[in-house]
Amino acid sequence: MKKKIVILGGGYGGLITSRKLEKLLKDNEAEVTLINKHEYHYIATQLHKTGAGTASDDKITLHIPELLKTNKITFKKATVDTVDFNQQQVHLENGEKVNYDYLLLSLGYEVDTFGIPGVEENAFKIRSFRSTKAIYNHMLHQFEAYQSDKDPSRLTFVVAGAGFTGVEMIGELVEAIPGLCKKFDVPINKTRIINIEASESVLPGFDKKAIDFTTDYVQKHGVELMTSTKIMECSPTSLTLSDGTDLPARTLIWSGGVRGNRLLEKLDLPVEKSRVKVDSYLRVQGKENVFCIGDAARFMKNDTEALPPTAQVAIQQAEVCGPNLIAAIRGESLKTFEYHHKGTVASIGNTAAVGNVFGIKISGLFAALMKQVVEARYLFVLGGPMLVIKQFSKLQKPYQ
Ligand code: FAD
Ligand code: NAD
Repeated sequence: MKKKIVILGGGYGGLITSRKLEKLLKDNEAEVTLINKHEYHYIATQLHKTGAGTASDDKITLHIPELLKTNKITFKKATVDTVDFNQQQVHLENGEKVNYDYLLLSLGYEVDTFGIPGVEENAFKIRSFRSTKAIYNHMLHQFEAYQSDKDPSRLTFVVAGAGFTGVEMIGELVEAIPGLCKKFDVPINKTRIINIEASESVLPGFDKKAIDFTTDYVQKHGVELMTSTKIMECSPTSLTLSDGTDLPARTLIWSGGVRGNRLLEKLDLPVEKSRVKVDSYLRVQGKENVFCIGDAARFMKNDTEALPPTAQVAIQQAEVCGPNLIAAIRGESLKTFEYHHKGTVASIGNTAAVGNVFGIKISGLFAALMKQVVEARYLFVLGGPMLVIKQFSKLQKPYQ
């Protein structure tokens, strides 16, 4: 009997694992099913562009069936409801049950709002293509409504958190707002872009050069930076800050942090700090036929520290997880996962970025180009040179 491999989640981890299986599995060696909520894969590392409307939808989303090159993998568009580990069955929201011999959990991240009153209900999240598309649609609505009621809170755009996600979102807003002002015939000086960060600086924990570059860059572009300030509450029309200020604003984009997918906490799994504990082979601790990678997994890099939730980690894990799934069905020995950090680059719009690549600190236009190289490499791994050319020929979206 052919072994059944089921992959849950078509993000970085799930898709790269699928591509690996396509390449390495012999014909008819296994039945592989990839299950994802949507028919498209969104390039999560560029979701901030969808939020600001600075990239076209087809630049950010890729049709999953087109990315799968062989008939070795069956794609199923469905939402996972639960997993019965005793019966080795995945239960889908549509009532269907899918049997497995080997399972991969690559269900990714969710946004963490830490129970701050009103944030879950009123803030916008950079979580998925749909959630970020909602930001752009909301901004359009605010510009439109401002034309009749002239309420300044409509043109106050607040980003919570100045970690990598917050800074990348701010960078896109800096590029997007002038276009929107032109489109809706609104003077740019009526708009405000505010970045609120609880720590003392933007990009907390990153090197000083990157912090200084980012601070100067965004301030030069009119962003109001409020560091050492926490958002304590959010209503549809205002924010309460830690210094007691009430800030009228109808757009809060929450980039305050991420956690593992909540679904995993409902399952009988060893979860710590919202992520599933895995062993050195990327198997869920205590479950030999269940693997977990990416933002859903807690992989310890030493006794005290786990790997961060990044696409870079998810991709590298997928590159080992694919061969390990095959080794498991063949009864061969598994490879241990070792992470090799290549660097980090955060964009601040399309023409500036800050980062550290192979230990070298970079900033400005060169860093922005490096960011494009990183994005191109991912597309290359996913779909070869043709996919890179196809996606890069889709230019940034103009407003007019
Ligand atoms: P995800 O990408 O979250 O994929 C999970 C998949 O599972 C999704 O397709 C989702 O739809 C699906 N899914 C979830 N629940 C269900 C369900 N119940 N049923 C079916 N399907 C489900 N990292 C970097 O290394 N470099 C960067 O430059 C970078 N930039 C980023 C920029 C932004 C704005 C953000 C938000 C993140 C960025 N990251 C970056 C982090 C990176 O995006 C994540 O680490 C990465 O997406 C994790 O990949 P994953 O496969 O584990 O999960
Ligand atoms: P994060 O946890 O790194 O940053 C969240 C920020 O929000 C922190 O600086 C925190 O101090 C701030 N914050 C939290 N609560 C707040 C409050 N109430 N008021 C004001 N500020 C508050 O989260 P992130 O930026 O979403 O990053 C998540 C993961 O994704 C990280 O591992 C990151 O490396 C990765 N990522 C990488 C890139 C990149 O490499 N270019 C881009 C985006 C995300």
